[in-house]
Amino acid sequence: MADYDVVIIGGNTPALVTAAYLAKDANLKVAVLERSQFIGGTAMTVEMKPGYKFSPAATGEFYVHPKVNHDLELTTKFGLTEVPCKPTLTTSFGDGQYLRIFPDFKDTAEEFGRFSDHDAVAFMEFIKNWGAVGKMFGLEQMNEPPKMSKFVGAMSSSVEMERMCRDMLFGTPRDILDNYFENDYVKASFLTLMEGSTAGPSDAPFFFCLGRMLHPWGFIKGGLKEVGRALEECAKSFGVDVIRGANVVKILTKDGAACGVEVEGGEIYNARVAVVSEIEPPTTFSKLVSEEEREQLPAGFKRGLHEIKYECGGVTLNLALDALPDFGFPEECYGGFFGITPPGFHYAEEAFAEYKCGRIPKKMLSMSYMPSYYEEPGTFAPEGHHVLTGYAFPVTGQLWEREWDEDAKAELLENWIDSLNDFAPGLKDHVLYANGYTPKELDEMFVMTNGDLGHGTLRWYDEFNWRPMPGYSNYRSPIKNLYMGGQSVHPLSGVGGVAGSIVAKAIVTDHDISAAEESDAEQFKDRW
Ligand SMILES: Cc1cc2nc3c(=O)[nH]c(=O)nc-3n(C[C@H](O)[C@H](O)[C@H](O)COP(=O)(O)OP(=O)(O)OC[C@H]3O[C@@H](n4cnc5c(N)ncnc54)[C@H](O)[C@@H]3O)c2cc1C
Repeated sequence: MADYDVVIIGGNTPALVTAAYLAKDANLKVAVLERSQFIGGTAMTVEMKPGYKFSPAATGEFYVHPKVNHDLELTTKFGLTEVPCKPTLTTSFGDGQYLRIFPDFKDTAEEFGRFSDHDAVAFMEFIKNWGAVGKMFGLEQMNEPPKMSKFVGAMSSSVEMERMCRDMLFGTPRDILDNYFENDYVKASFLTLMEGSTAGPSDAPFFFCLGRMLHPWGFIKGGLKEVGRALEECAKSFGVDVIRGANVVKILTKDGAACGVEVEGGEIYNARVAVVSEIEPPTTFSKLVSEEEREQLPAGFKRGLHEIKYECGGVTLNLALDALPDFGFPEECYGGFFGITPPGFHYAEEAFAEYKCGRIPKKMLSMSYMPSYYEEPGTFAPEGHHVLTGYAFPVTGQLWEREWDEDAKAELLENWIDSLNDFAPGLKDHVLYANGYTPKELDEMFVMTNGDLGHGTLRWYDEFNWRPMPGYSNYRSPIKNLYMGGQSVHPLSGVGGVAGSIVAKAIVTDHDISAAEESDAEQFKDRW
C-alpha cells in the first residue's frame, strides 16, 4: 500500500503536466501510474528497424502552450527543444508545381500570388477574419471550456461576425475556400490541413482544419519521445513518483468519493485528495469503476458516455528510404511538413467517399515530414538514408465487412506508398522498410477506441462544453474526487498536454488548496 494526495491513471503527457503543476504549485504528493514500460502515451520515437527511428503513434506536429512551457521550464531547464517548421507545409501537386505555406502570413500571400494575384490579396483578408475567431478560441485554451451558446452569442455583434459564425459552425472547407479563393492550386493547398478529419471537403467543419494554420508549428528535436522524457524529468524534480508497469484495474471509493486505485497484482495506491483518469470516460466508467458506483451514475452522464463518437481519421505510417525522394519541390521544403494532392477537391472527395464506405482509399492524402533531413545526420537514419513519417488519411477505424488484420495493414501501407509514388515518381524503389500501427493496434496499445486520436471526433459535436459530454465538461465526474483528463477533455491538447494544467487547477480549486506562491507552503510539509 502506498499513500498519495493524488493518483493519476495513465502515463501520457497531460498526466505528467497535471502531476508537475500539482507538485510544484500546491506541494501535493502525486503518483502517475502507467501500465506499460513507456512514459508519454502516443508521444513515441521507436527504432522499429535497426538504425531507423520512427514515430509510430503520434505523428510529430508539436505545439506546447507557451505558458505551460514557461511554468514548467521545459525548454530552459529540461531541454525540450522545438525545431520550427520552415516552411510550415508544402503541397506537391504531382505536375511539377508546388505551393508553400509559411509561418509568416505575408510570405504565404506572396506564394499564393505565384498562382493568382486575387488569391494573394484574398489570403490576407482570410487571415484577418479567421485570425480574429482563432484568437477568441486561443484565449480559451488555458481555461475550462466556455458554453458554446455564449460563444455563439458573442459572435452576433455585426453582420460580418454573423457571417463568421455561420462559416465557423456550418461552413465546410469547400464552402469557405470557394468563398475566398479562385485558384484550384491555392484551394488544394489547404486540404492537407484536413488531417484527422472524419469527413471530406464537402462535409468537414472547416475551422478544425484552419486551427493548425493559425499557430506556429514545430518538430521536437530528438523526436516525440523527448516530450515524455522532459515532462517526466520535470515532474520527478518536484517529487512526483512515475511508476511503470502499474495497470490500474479498479478505482476505489469510500462514501461515494474516489479514494485510490488498485493495480493488477493487488497493490493499493491511496489518494487522499483526488484520482485522475487519463483514459477515455466510457472505459473508465465501464471497466475501472465498481458496478455499484456505475449504477448510481446520473442518467445524463450514462447517456453521455454512450453518445461520445469515436472515429479514426488516419494513422501514422513510416518508411525507411535509401535516398531522398523528389516531390518536385525545393529540397529545403523538407524543413517542414509536406502534403500530396492534385489541384482542386476531387482527389480528396474521392478518398473520403471510400473512407465513408469503410474501404481503404486507393489514393490517399498524407501530412509527412522527414526528421532525417533536419536532424543531425545519422540520428534518425544511417547517413544518406532517410525516414519519412506521415499521417496517412483518411483511414477508418471500422472497415466494412473485414477486420484490421495483417492483410488490411499491408493494403494500407501499399496504397499509401503508391499514393506518395504518384507525386514522387521512383520513391517506391527506395523503400527499405514500411510500418505503422492500424486503428486496431492503436486501440490495443493505448485504449483508443477505433484508433481515434481525438478521444472523440474532431467535430463541433464533441467540442467546448460538449466535451466529453454536455453537463460534464469541467473535468469533474459525478463521482466526487474523480477527475477526467487527457485528450478526452477540452481543449484537445495533443501531446502538448495543456489540458493537464486545467485539471490541476480544478483539483486545487475544489479542495481549497492554495497554490504555493500564494500561501504558506509550510502547511503541506509534513502531510505524510
Ligand atoms: C495517429 C496519431 C497521430 C497523432 N499525431 C499527433 C501530432 O502530430 N501531434 C500531437 O500533438 N499529438 C498527436 N497525436 C496524439 C493525440 O493528439 C493525443 O494526444 C493522443 O491520442 C493521446 O491521448 P492522451 O494523451 O489522452 O492519452 P494516451 O497517449 O492514449 O495515453 C494513455 C496512457 O494511459 C495508459 N493506460 C491505459 N489504461 C491504463 C490503465 N488501466 N492503467 C494504467 N495506465 C493505463 C496507456 O498505456 C497510455 O500510456 C496523435 C495520435 C495518434 C494516434
